[in-house]
Amino acid sequence: MTAAAEDDDARWMRLALAQARAAGEAGEVPVGAVVVRGDEVIATGRNAPIAGHDPTAHAEIAALRAAAAHLGNYRLDGCTLYVTLEPCAMCSGAMLHARLPRVVYGAADAKTGAAGSVVDLFAEPRLNHHTQVQRGVLAEECGALLSDFFRQRRGQRRAQALAAHPLRDDALRTPDAAFADLPGYPWAPHYVSDLPTLGGLRLHFLDEGPRDAARTWLCLHGLPTGSYLYRHMLPVFAAAGDRVVVPDLIGFGRSDKPKKEAAHRFEWHRQVLIECIQRLDLRHTVLVVHGWGGALGLTLPMALPGRFDGLLAMNTWLAGGQAPQPARLAAWQADCARAGRSQGGAGRWVAQACAHLSAQEQAAYDAPFPDVGFRAALRALPLAGLSALDGSEGDAIARDAAAFWQNEWAGRSLLVAGTPDAALGLEAMQALHAAVRGSPPPVALAGAGHFVPEQGAEIAARAVEYFRL
Ligand code: ZN
Repeated sequence: MTAAAEDDDARWMRLALAQARAAGEAGEVPVGAVVVRGDEVIATGRNAPIAGHDPTAHAEIAALRAAAAHLGNYRLDGCTLYVTLEPCAMCSGAMLHARLPRVVYGAADAKTGAAGSVVDLFAEPRLNHHTQVQRGVLAEECGALLSDFFRQRRGQRRAQALAAHPLRDDALRTPDAAFADLPGYPWAPHYVSDLPTLGGLRLHFLDEGPRDAARTWLCLHGLPTGSYLYRHMLPVFAAAGDRVVVPDLIGFGRSDKPKKEAAHRFEWHRQVLIECIQRLDLRHTVLVVHGWGGALGLTLPMALPGRFDGLLAMNTWLAGGQAPQPARLAAWQADCARAGRSQGGAGRWVAQACAHLSAQEQAAYDAPFPDVGFRAALRALPLAGLSALDGSEGDAIARDAAAFWQNEWAGRSLLVAGTPDAALGLEAMQALHAAVRGSPPPVALAGAGHFVPEQGAEIAARAVEYFRL
């Protein structure tokens, strides 16, 4: 090919690029085309499937139609079509039908290109017309136009997603980047912010498995963890064909974090969960609770009749009311408060009780709390499970809950006591056994310590069998 011919190709391709830019400005994927005969542009076309509700409205089709109309002949003898992106199978077919002598394209299209990238219709000897193909003219410029367009669109989508759950002035939101590549935690986030009690705060939850599964596991974490705590149990439940829902309580994980400790009232957290369970319409549910998640979660089934038929409780207790409180709970509260004040405190606390935890897993427990402002829940909630219940509205809730588990609970129960755990170990779980109607004695899990779900795969497998319908 002569230098003059190459200059000509580049000159015509710039006209196709102008068509592509016009398509992009109209919100279409930016692809443009021109048809040239001799030294004259006889037709132009730009991509427009969205505006026209027309899957065939590619730039090449528009240009071929306009050229044929101009010439009064569907055969485009002596014409060259310039297009910024490698033609697809449909457009390549149309060129063969038009007996087009030559096509020149810019960027290759690895996804749908039919001139060599995915298939090569032009090299197929059984198709009776042969269009000459020139590849890669102004390829960089043509490709950059497309990649800029898609990058911009991704940015707009992110902005829209943020606008769908705007951040309240009195709350913090841990940046998404903090949760990129957490070890053993590959699940897609789900968000809700329009529950009445949330008042616009964004609640995060994992929701795996079919919505209409025969059984659902609702897993509630305690302190100082989050949905990350259940990463060993979730896959076992999901593999059984069940639905698994794991919220991050407000103040934890990917959920929004109110700046003020006073926002963390026991009754408020409880009402959020009640509304969340109703919104997600959880049925045939096994309530899975650990630590403080039990103090809160054990008050839920009495308010949601007909939704729960199983209880899997690990190192937890029935808070307040008439239930006996674990003897060393005050020491545990002090641990919580310390973790809430110190940098890296959450991860360190879990790691101290779990010898197997890797440095990356320890960091994953700290990921939601980039600085002290994010840790209000860690400081406030240990107390909210106890003294805040004394004589308050929460105290009445706790008394009702104790009566419910003693007299009305008709579901199956599985209690697990990880040892050693000074505050919420075997003794606490024996007390829960006495408080929960029809529950068998706790299963002791030596060496699991306080954070039982960290060793949870085996318990989950056992629970799948135990709660079989
Ligand atoms: Zn096409």
